[in-house]
Amino acid sequence: MNNNTSPETATHTNVMIVGVGMSGMGAAVHLQKSCPDRDYMLIERREAIGGTWDLFRYPGIRSDSDMHTLGYNFKPWKAEKAIADGPAIWDYVNETADEHGIRDQVRFGHKLVSASWSSESATWLLTVDAGGETVYFTSHFLLMCSGYYNYDAGHQPEFDGRENVKGTWVHPQFWPEQLDYTGKKVVVIGSGAAARPGAEAGAHARLVATRTVHEAGWR
Ligand SMILES: Cc1cc2nc3c(=O)[nH]c(=O)nc-3n(C[C@H](O)[C@H](O)[C@H](O)COP(=O)(O)OP(=O)(O)OC[C@H]3O[C@@H](n4cnc5c(N)ncnc54)[C@H](O)[C@@H]3O)c2cc1C
Repeated sequence: MNNNTSPETATHTNVMIVGVGMSGMGAAVHLQKSCPDRDYMLIERREAIGGTWDLFRYPGIRSDSDMHTLGYNFKPWKAEKAIADGPAIWDYVNETADEHGIRDQVRFGHKLVSASWSSESATWLLTVDAGGETVYFTSHFLLMCSGYYNYDAGHQPEFDGRENVKGTWVHPQFWPEQLDYTGKKVVVIGSGAAARPGAEAGAHARLVATRTVHEAGWR
């Protein structure tokens, strides 16, 4: 039961970090090290750490930049593959959380809904949805580490005649865990990093077509 259910009883922290993907995690560790006299808190709308690397579960998921530059300077990437598989990055982020005790600072299932700044008190008032209950936080600093895409719905352009497709239509953001594409004909739309599952699927099935406008981003 939360007692911060009104702006007057808001929970205060010096720094509020929104999101516990790679960015929020990195920000928290740096804050702990460089500003030990400042308290901070993280809110995460999901129940897990890792953001992108927890949400996307399609076969063959991997980074497209090398982990020596994408990883943290305080935790050098030591695995053999520099272009890393999704599960290895998930491990890396979760390991970071455990090594630095970040999990204890996270309020999971807390989604930031709005933020308003008061110049008078130099604080943000944050309105947060905590599983259907509205709760409030205040902070002097607000670090938005919430990523760049819509967690609820992946980008899905309209395609004429889509209703005529008899097969299974899959978006990489919501890849069904049990999807069996063995022996299926696979059409991949797009050629960026997320085109990889289709290509993987194609290796196990028969890759029929890919719309290759640019050089494939994941090569
Ligand atoms: C397949 C794939 C491969 C990629 N490869 C690379 C790569 O090689 N190099 C690269 O630079 N980038 C890559 N990216 C982009 C990738 O998203 C970023 O590298 C990085 O993981 C982003 O981390 P982040 O913490 O900024 O955001 P995210 O991973 O998106 O995490 C944001 C977090 O904020 C939470 N959140 C969002 N809104 C709210 C809210 N309102 N309230 C509370 N919590 C909220 C989310 O639940 C999530 O946990 C890739 C992306 C994909 C999908």
